[in-house]
Amino acid sequence: MFGAFLVALWMADRSLKAALWGAIAFFVGSGSILVDALRPPGEEWLRHVALTLHFVTVALFIQSFARRHGEDLPTAALGIAAIASLIFTPFQPLSPPSDMRLVLVQLVALAMILTVLPRATRWRDGQAIGRLVVGALAVAAISYLVRAALFLVRPDTQTSTDFFASFYNVTFHLTTAIIGFSLGLVLLVALGSDAVRRENRETAIDPLTGLGNRRRLHWAINSDESGKWNCGGVIAIDLDHFKAINDRYGHGGGDRVLVGVADALKFVFRGQRICRLGGEEFLILLPRDLNGQLPALASRALAAIEALRFERPLDNCRVSACVGTAIRQQGMSIEEVIRRADMAVYRGKNQGRGQVNSADAANDGDPPGEGALA
Ligand code: GH3
Ligand code: MG
Ligand code: MG
Repeated sequence: MFGAFLVALWMADRSLKAALWGAIAFFVGSGSILVDALRPPGEEWLRHVALTLHFVTVALFIQSFARRHGEDLPTAALGIAAIASLIFTPFQPLSPPSDMRLVLVQLVALAMILTVLPRATRWRDGQAIGRLVVGALAVAAISYLVRAALFLVRPDTQTSTDFFASFYNVTFHLTTAIIGFSLGLVLLVALGSDAVRRENRETAIDPLTGLGNRRRLHWAINSDESGKWNCGGVIAIDLDHFKAINDRYGHGGGDRVLVGVADALKFVFRGQRICRLGGEEFLILLPRDLNGQLPALASRALAAIEALRFERPLDNCRVSACVGTAIRQQGMSIEEVIRRADMAVYRGKNQGRGQVNSADAANDGDPPGEGALA
């Protein structure tokens, strides 16, 4: 069932390769259980096939979780599985005695999971889903440990009929269910949330420039309100006479200029929250620790915009902008800071364009013009 859900998820979003790995893990795992259940008693080679498929299943699960983070199954896990499978080959001197067999099988699976668990804790990023993944891997590891202990205490668990043997037998089947169910459920939840997050991210991106859009701006404002970061200042930018660029070079030419400006801003404000609010208006929200650099960053942005050069037929096109900065004072909402940065932009428009103005250095009260959030 989980396998089918994961295939459906992968078909809906082909970039979710981890879902495909997870689905294969379930199918191979089911194959392993079927081969083991249907093999005639004493059929050693089929038992070996089932065992190898079990190791492959564990490897596929690990691969699936690792792919979510662009990583691959650790080589150590693959090595452990390969060596174990060789050692367990029937009818050869290294093959472990049958009473140790089941203990060792659990320890091999446990060792494979342990190769990835330290990494998985680094995948967490402080998110609930990350903690869930680590939890599921840890539950699987503990389950394998319990099974190893179980077979160590009672190697005859699966053949005896007394009370303790049936108790152990129930534990064995219960741990199988716990491992399969927790890994499957968590994988499905994690991949589902990946898909939703990707879709959300895409709706917050301006397709022309790759910058954030208005939705991205509202996210940034919300995450500031919920304390995830602390916005300390805003830089607003409005290109000068952009309509004239459109009129002269056509809408396509204007678009090329917008992409050029966006690239320049990405360079100057690397890693910061840069949005295009439609048209030729840009807004950068900066964290409080960059407050001291606000004027320098604004000047660098203007210089980068004015230095833009384009290929024919835009080779004579020169771009300038009005840049407004505003520091967020105690108790001020981000919307208020944006409004003040906007007023600084429009002061620039009135003073001849192509300049940086600070809302904090001016006497407020200028007409707000068409505000960025208007
Ligand atoms: P000012 O110096 O006063 O800011 O003048 P301006 O011409 O830059 O400002 P105005 O608001 O008059 O014109 C903005 C233009 O931007 C008008 C609109 O056609 C154009 N525009 C809006 N969105 C896009 C877009 O996505 N692509 C292109 N090429 N043009 C756009
Ligand atoms: Mg404008
Ligand atoms: Mg403009």
